[in-house]
Amino acid sequence: MSALSGVGVGRGIAAAKVLKMPEPLAPPGDAPLSAPVDEEAARVQGALQDVAAELLSRAAAAGGEAQQVLEAAALMAQDPAILDDVRTRMEGGANAERATWDAYGAFRDMLVSMGGYMAERATDLDDVAQRVVARLRGVAAPGVPASDEPFILVARDLAPADTATLDLEKTLALVTQDGGPTSHTAILARSKSLPAVVGVTGILAAVADGQRAIVDARTGSVELDPSDDAVAAAQTEREERLAAASAPITDGALADGTKVPLLANLGSPKEAAKAVELGAEGVGLFRTEFLFLDATSAPTVEAQTASYTELLQAFPGRKVVVRALDAGADKPLSFLNDAHEENPALGLRGIRALRASEQILRDQLAALANAQDATDAELWVMAPMIADVEETEYFVALGRELGLRTVGAMAEVPSIAVLADQVLEAADFVSIGTNDLTQYTMAADRQLGSVSSFQDPWHPAVLRLVKLLGEAGAATGKPVGVCGEAAADPALAVVLVGLGVTTLSMSPSALADVRAELLTVTLEEARERAARAITARSAAEARGLAAG
Ligand code: PEP
Ligand code: MG
Repeated sequence: MSALSGVGVGRGIAAAKVLKMPEPLAPPGDAPLSAPVDEEAARVQGALQDVAAELLSRAAAAGGEAQQVLEAAALMAQDPAILDDVRTRMEGGANAERATWDAYGAFRDMLVSMGGYMAERATDLDDVAQRVVARLRGVAAPGVPASDEPFILVARDLAPADTATLDLEKTLALVTQDGGPTSHTAILARSKSLPAVVGVTGILAAVADGQRAIVDARTGSVELDPSDDAVAAAQTEREERLAAASAPITDGALADGTKVPLLANLGSPKEAAKAVELGAEGVGLFRTEFLFLDATSAPTVEAQTASYTELLQAFPGRKVVVRALDAGADKPLSFLNDAHEENPALGLRGIRALRASEQILRDQLAALANAQDATDAELWVMAPMIADVEETEYFVALGRELGLRTVGAMAEVPSIAVLADQVLEAADFVSIGTNDLTQYTMAADRQLGSVSSFQDPWHPAVLRLVKLLGEAGAATGKPVGVCGEAAADPALAVVLVGLGVTTLSMSPSALADVRAELLTVTLEEARERAARAITARSAAEARGLAAG
């Protein structure tokens, strides 16, 4: 038996056999055609038919959106124009693999040049090309493996396209060698409540298909070749944890009864019903920019009033925290960010962009005030990317002028934490966006895989900034919430509460795990864990110290 460790996502546990995701294929070489063209064309045609049949059977099994994606890919595999092009290339001397690869490459480039929906399908063609070449080569096709037995999927990392074909009935857990807590795999695992351990160095070399393993997301460990007793214990633990996660929905609280309201992060009023069903006690972050990502001109007050009213009506008597448009960097809005910037994450974004187009901000705040006055929800409005007290005072004054009752700031820029005492005097509340706070504290682009190891909200530098904000909140009697991904990590949620955070907001699918974990500690214990975590020298050490 041996164990490897990484970053756990969620608090689940699973024991099963491992299936590894095949590595992407190396591109074919330039060796000359090895057999007559007719023979090779027949081989390619056979491979195309096999791939199409396989995609169609997976489509039928998948259903829903994945079915459509797979059926479209099967059609691409059968396109007669492709076979014609492959033949022409072989007649020109290319070997079968090279001719197939290049024919798909040319098809792909054509789709990209068409733009729009067709361009979005281009990556599906790459997947089909890889599958056909894998058949010709006689090796396993890349992509998520299929199995009739439940399994633990081990991969270098998962791409968004892989997740569409993941069979959630059979996949019990995910383990990746790369990727951090904000990677696509981690987000998927959280949204599907799958146990996952990411960033497990050396896992690909350490395991083989069919080997047995126990994946424990709570401890971030992957145990290889466990004994029968260890597997039985893991199964029992799994049942207990699943029972806790599906326990009756109660309001968020610690073991000693301390209330920690659990709120939802939403991007559309349409997501409200599901959040309520999963026990969200309100909304901790409504990302208004998600409503307007495709808009070419600023939305009207009327249109916005309608959207915000629809949202607030879903939460009568409840708190709903709405964020003013956060435009720029990973979420550009064409009507707010029109200049080219070399470093948009450090540019005219968030409150800076709103201030530069103040009428757009005024219209949004007016629409929010209309919705506030038309409904029974308790509306709080906050501004993104606030850097200091001057920006806080500007936003609070404008919000009040336009009739808003509760106005606050998001803490995403490290300077706001350093100045937490001043900012909390001026704002009604602060909500910490740990995704950006981590990005800026660690100088690590949150969209860049190569620096994902720095993008870890467990880093003691980030935790110490949260502590400054928590202390300022306690000193001023103002609420300090967290609405970044960190709140969805059950073990970290406990530490955040120990640092003085008063509410936690997350994607609704994470609520059950966080609710269950909070119930296992008292406030005193949460504070002890937090006190240990901030003494750490690294994110990994903070995790370990918090666990005790
Ligand atoms: C954050 O930065 O943590 C946050 C909640 O905002 P977003 O992820 O939308 O940037
Ligand atoms: Mg942010």
